Amino acid sequence: MGVPVSQMWTVASYVLRQKLRGVTRYPLVLMLEPLFRCNLACAGCGKIQHPNSVLKRNLAAEECFQAVEECGAPMVSIPGGEPLLHPEIHEIVAGLVERKKYIYLCTNAILLEEHLDRFTPSKYLTFSVHLDGLQEEHDKAVCREGIYEVAVRAIRTAVERGFRVTTNTTLFNDADPESCKQFFDELMELGVEGMMVSPGYPYEKAPDQEHFLHRNETLQLFGKLLDRPKKSWRFNQSPLFLEFLRGRFDLECTPWGNPTYNLFGWQKPCYLVQEGYCGSFKELMETTDWELYGRCSGNPKCTDCMVHSGYEPSAVAQTFGSLKGFLRTAKVSLFGFGPSETVVSPRVEVGSEPESKTDAELVQLQEYLPMAGDAADSISETQSDEAVIELSTRS
Ligand code: SF4
Repeated sequence: MGVPVSQMWTVASYVLRQKLRGVTRYPLVLMLEPLFRCNLACAGCGKIQHPNSVLKRNLAAEECFQAVEECGAPMVSIPGGEPLLHPEIHEIVAGLVERKKYIYLCTNAILLEEHLDRFTPSKYLTFSVHLDGLQEEHDKAVCREGIYEVAVRAIRTAVERGFRVTTNTTLFNDADPESCKQFFDELMELGVEGMMVSPGYPYEKAPDQEHFLHRNETLQLFGKLLDRPKKSWRFNQSPLFLEFLRGRFDLECTPWGNPTYNLFGWQKPCYLVQEGYCGSFKELMETTDWELYGRCSGNPKCTDCMVHSGYEPSAVAQTFGSLKGFLRTAKVSLFGFGPSETVVSPRVEVGSEPESKTDAELVQLQEYLPMAGDAADSISETQSDEAVIELSTRS
């Protein structure tokens, strides 16, 4: 997986600390939107439809720092809008690096080369470049020709200059699995640290409503994409989230995992749905009726959502907070994804797998992972979350 060990350790220890303190709802990634303005107008985007008076505004650097401190998440993602249009983006990034936050600055890369001199390479800073496919597909997705080439050039330059670079790709129902695989090969050749892929969320305000993926379509598409994927592909995502996308491990949404702060305050309940704002992070956590969201709630806004901002924190919580999630992650990390022959039933219990080769896999794991021996012994006796805490304190 394309995530540095220091970052993994920061996240793992943060999650375990929350578990040990008995905190059940905690933020993992702050989605910090310092502006909504963009230099593109993509058909699938639900973020740029604000009036001009709003599009002109920016969050001040101090407001960003206050939100980051209030939230306390170890990672900060800076989407937008296009963050490189923000006049203080360099100060914001420098301030977050100083606070030892792992930052993903999401950009369409149009301005990246021009701005690189104003940033310093750091393990805390990653440019997450938006690319939705090979040249033809990407230029179509962003509704402008030539953008793929600009982004690829910027990626090369940033990698050469020692910056961490990942890509983020949103897939829609017209994605061709074979073309996507070729696209993944190309991204790896560019030298990016890892790729992030996610199905698009059906924003009510997005101009293009026809191409969003429904849940079954997502499972089918990712089943094909990740059916014995190439070893050379590196994903900057947790293995469990990818297993979830291809129907091999079920998760429930944890909308509080990626709280969103923007020009209006703390957005209820998540990055994708906007049902009001709170004046503080504490108020967001305490006054949101979280039971109304996620697939199990039956909320139609959540029915088809399998987006990383809702489910990646669930995957991370399962990985570092449950024995089953940890073992599944270890298995994928050691043996790869394997075939995608089975899809989970829509009503399968969260944290479960579709079918059971599990015992055989655990035996294999015991041979490879000294720590997994304990875990495999424990899993049949107890599948409680406490087991992983016990395991972590023993090792
Ligand atoms: S399922 Fe998706 S839309 Fe619903 S709360 Fe979670 S992230 Fe938001």
